[in-house]
Amino acid sequence: MNRDLICIICPRGCKMSVDVPDCTLSDMGKPGCEITVVGNSCKRGEVYAISECTNPQRSITSTVRVSNRENVMVSVKTKDTVSKNKIFEVMKVIRSLSVEAPLEIGDELCDNVAGTKIIATKKVE
Ligand code: SF4
Repeated sequence: MNRDLICIICPRGCKMSVDVPDCTLSDMGKPGCEITVVGNSCKRGEVYAISECTNPQRSITSTVRVSNRENVMVSVKTKDTVSKNKIFEVMKVIRSLSVEAPLEIGDELCDNVAGTKIIATKKVE
C-alpha cells in the first residue's frame, strides 16, 4: 500500500510518499517488511510517517462541565498524544467528568486514561 502524507512536524510541510508492505503490524519493520519513506527532509519526518501508518497518534481536546459554576465549561486536552483507536475511550471518560473551580491551566482532571492524563487548558476562578 502506498500513502501520500504531508509532514506536520514543522512548518516546511514536506510531501512524503510512504510504501507500507502487506505485513502484519507485529512483523512491520522486520526484514522483508520495512516501511519506505521518501520525500522527507529529515529523520523526524520518517518517524512521523511510520507512526502515522502503523500507530497514528492524536491529541484530544474537549470541554468539561464545571459543577460549581453556572453554565461554565473548562477546556481540556490530553497531556500526551494517544493512539487514534483510543479516541472513543478517552472521549467517554471526558464526557463523564465534572470538575470544581477554581482551576488552573495544567491542573490534572483525570490521572489515567489510555496511558495519559486529562488536563485543564483554561483558568476558571
Ligand atoms: S520531514 Fe523534517 S523538514 Fe520536512 S516537514 Fe517534517 S520535520 Fe520538517
